[in-house]
Amino acid sequence: MSEKIKIVCPNCHKINAIPANKEIHKANCGNCGHSLFDTHPVSLDESSFSKHINGSDIPVVVDFWAEWCGPCKMMAPNFEAAASHFPLKAQFAKVNTEHYPTLSAQFGIRGIPTIIIFKNGTEVHRVSGALDQNSIVNLVRNFV
Ligand SMILES: [Zn+2]
Repeated sequence: MSEKIKIVCPNCHKINAIPANKEIHKANCGNCGHSLFDTHPVSLDESSFSKHINGSDIPVVVDFWAEWCGPCKMMAPNFEAAASHFPLKAQFAKVNTEHYPTLSAQFGIRGIPTIIIFKNGTEVHRVSGALDQNSIVNLVRNFV
């Protein structure tokens, strides 16, 4: 039996299992058909947040941000560009701290932007302040 890894669909948030030990070039969600290679950061609410954090075998890299935050807006394109380096390796996600204050309270977010990396439901790293694309890529490489 070949090994599988669980990837949470960025579109419908259903868990997909894909072969872990072979090179694949195409993988679509079994539920909605969305490409699992889509690296665009997924916007999470309370419910989809827990699905991704707890259901995914790959690290989930979450940017806690807000509309009014200048540095957050500055970092957004860097975050998106960094995400494109990790198809099926890391899921990039965003939490709007104004829309979902319970999530930012749960993780004690004091300053934004804050990036938290989760692995198997557990926080493994956090960093505050705007980062450039290379810094984000190098950071995430430590966890994939
Ligand atoms: Zn889907």
